[in-house]
Amino acid sequence: MTPRPIIGITTQTLDAIPGELPRCWVMSQRYVDVLTAAGAIPWVIPLTHDMATLREVYERLDGVFLPGGVDMDPDQYSESRLPVCGVTDPDRDRVEVALVRWAMEEQKPVLAVCRGVQVLNVAAGGTLYQDLAEWCEAAIKHDYWPNEPRQRQDLVHDVFIEPQTVLASIMGAGATTVNSMHHQGIKKLAPGLVVNARAPDGLIEGVEGRDDESFLLGVQWHPEELVESISTARRLFEAFIASASSHQIDAVPR
Ligand code: MN
Repeated sequence: MTPRPIIGITTQTLDAIPGELPRCWVMSQRYVDVLTAAGAIPWVIPLTHDMATLREVYERLDGVFLPGGVDMDPDQYSESRLPVCGVTDPDRDRVEVALVRWAMEEQKPVLAVCRGVQVLNVAAGGTLYQDLAEWCEAAIKHDYWPNEPRQRQDLVHDVFIEPQTVLASIMGAGATTVNSMHHQGIKKLAPGLVVNARAPDGLIEGVEGRDDESFLLGVQWHPEELVESISTARRLFEAFIASASSHQIDAVPR
């Protein structure tokens, strides 16, 4: 029997709380649980400064998952920081950009969610809006919580999934309604990526690789919050894991 594919899940820095907590690397259990339910062995990745260690971690992975999180440092796409840019985590930026670039070079499967799709776009040479208000004041609300208390699974805007994309083959083409918890978004699309979903205001809500040999896909919403309510959200994780399984079979035996 083929072993379950190992999926790397990146983390975020949690600063020390003096007298209570040392500096930590953390990530939501939700991603770990959803990927495990889809068939993965989850591997939570430290934001190590030792690139040789990171590379060895990467080489043991069958797929890379990029979760949601804080803003990317505009340094990463050579723009100066605006006051609207939020908290950043340079260690996380550095580790995620390295992992995605290695994965793109070697066609190792990548699935990216929310901040993850932004990281994917920047790693491939694109840029971001540091705040969507910078783009268009009439844009629909993308950091939108209609209810109190806040519910991460609330569906707040449509996206239109482009036909003839990998995303359409998994979720179906056309309109679907999604959650939205982001104040940044893709500005300049990276060369080598194609748009697979857009919001009604035109904002890019999903991208994928041009090369259909490898699974390289990101969405701006949070499908991990929708796996119980929407079957196509679950299918997205299952398609990623299936791709990581076949990558594992194709790879040199370890
Ligand atoms: Mn949105």
